Amino acid sequence: MFDNQEQQKFTIAVIGAGGACVAFLHHLVVSLAPSQAAALRVQVFEPRPCAGPGLAYQEDEETLLLNRVAETMSVSASDYSTFSAWLRWKSHHARELRPVSAANLSAAYVPRPVFGRFLADFFRETLDSARQKGLEIDVVPAAVQGIRRGTRYLIETPGARYEADSVVLAVGNTGARDHYQLGGHARFLDSPYPVRQRIRPLLGARRICVIGAGLSAVDVAVSLREMGYQGGIDLVSRGGSLPFVRGRQAQAHQPRYLTQAALIRLSNHGATRIGLRALGRLLRAELRTVGYDWRALFRDSADPLASLRADTGAAGEVCQWQLVLAATNAVVSTAWHALDAASQDVVLKRFARQWRARRAPMPRENALKLLQMIERGQLRLLRGAPAFDRSSADAISATTAAGTVRYDYVINATGSAQWVDTPQDSALVWQMLQDGLAVRDPRGGIRVDFGTGAVIDQHNEPDWNLRALGQITNGSYFFVSSLEMIARHARRIADDLLATLPYEGRRVIGQPTLVPVAE
Ligand SMILES: Cc1cc2nc3c(=O)[nH]c(=O)nc-3n(C[C@H](O)[C@H](O)[C@H](O)COP(=O)(O)OP(=O)(O)OC[C@H]3O[C@@H](n4cnc5c(N)ncnc54)[C@H](O)[C@@H]3O)c2cc1C
Repeated sequence: MFDNQEQQKFTIAVIGAGGACVAFLHHLVVSLAPSQAAALRVQVFEPRPCAGPGLAYQEDEETLLLNRVAETMSVSASDYSTFSAWLRWKSHHARELRPVSAANLSAAYVPRPVFGRFLADFFRETLDSARQKGLEIDVVPAAVQGIRRGTRYLIETPGARYEADSVVLAVGNTGARDHYQLGGHARFLDSPYPVRQRIRPLLGARRICVIGAGLSAVDVAVSLREMGYQGGIDLVSRGGSLPFVRGRQAQAHQPRYLTQAALIRLSNHGATRIGLRALGRLLRAELRTVGYDWRALFRDSADPLASLRADTGAAGEVCQWQLVLAATNAVVSTAWHALDAASQDVVLKRFARQWRARRAPMPRENALKLLQMIERGQLRLLRGAPAFDRSSADAISATTAAGTVRYDYVINATGSAQWVDTPQDSALVWQMLQDGLAVRDPRGGIRVDFGTGAVIDQHNEPDWNLRALGQITNGSYFFVSSLEMIARHARRIADDLLATLPYEGRRVIGQPTLVPVAE
């Protein structure tokens, strides 16, 4: 596909062009020296028509909101202004963005497709910057079906093969788990996205069941309402509660106890693992600095509707515990990594769900819409695992504590699966697992080396030329469902690859010189 000169260059293949890829390329290009650029080639593989937005920020209804205010959404790990600066500049040319850019961006929850437009623009500009430094970044508009490891990597797409020296897996969010074996039924939707194509055709339904009550379920309920849906909606989930409501944006909390320095001290510079008790003490002390009792943090509400009312009422005020939790982004991966195996197990079984729910609250405007829907009887929150009956062709029935209900449609809104367990979850990662290029991490996703994101193979060896980013690394880093966290890891991988790049000719790199453990 390329002439000989191009073939000789050290080639990095990036699989997937969502937010993780944009963040990685940004950090790579910013730090790249022109002498390195001349010896390097990058190929990005992405089957979607547009590189940048990925799944979360794809073109869709404007009812889908970012779960963070505009001024905190960025592809840079160090500069949070990339999106808000773009919005202000872009709205000089794109009139339709003016109402968005005129809002107070430190308090505004912008539609996700607008962020997707930003990502697509940022991606194009990054390619331009790279070209100015002498680096060509090509986009191959195809899904990668397989990766084989020889002296170089062989990247297989339908009908073509490419070679690379280093691979960055940025395949993003995998499919949701089909917990109730409803797949294949004509009235079952395995994912709500894009809602414009998938949800809009359902407006004539009388009753819809949404499995899940997290942010994706909120997307479905709010979108149905805004599209003019008149029927009933049941959100069915084990916990029966909606996400928390985000409080008013305020100055960032400065941690005093739950700090990188404290974790390094406790773990004896990484030489020993720490127990949950020790970590809990740091979190408790940190929450005490804002007068919050840590026990309230992990308490599930017995009355979700009362909690929603209370949360929505208080959302105009600063919520101190949310600021403390937001500040943990700087240490959460290190803290997770420092925990001993038994403690990690306890966290996954008892606290992980609550932690993630509290770290990703919903915007107040969505909470208000849900509250209205509940109060006028259009939306119900049902707790417990339902028993589904799929025997009828034109409906699916579900039995919960509230009785048996016949639904015109059932929508799976449970979010990304924690593991790749079938080829449907991710054909590529499944193949890598089968071939031993990657192994399952019992904590979630695939195993990667904590410091470098290098994928660990069946022989327990980290492959320094095969790095992973995003959702599939959730077992190693615990909290990766936020672009801020992904951008931090992307910068680390970009810096690490650049530090070990050859300056002329192609060679396979060895163990990286940089093995940072701190965020
Ligand atoms: C619905 C939703 C809403 C979210 N909202 C927010 C938010 O408001 N704020 C926030 O910080 N985070 C949010 N997140 C978290 C989100 O995952 C990250 O912010 C970020 O978008 C993840 O980027 P990614 O590139 O890892 O994944 P994705 O966005 O999933 O992109 C991965 C890309 O890889 C491509 N791909 C997959 N397999 C292959 C293959 N085999 N070959 C080639 N290409 C492939 C896909 O087509 C896709 O374009 C949200 C997540 C979801 C699912």
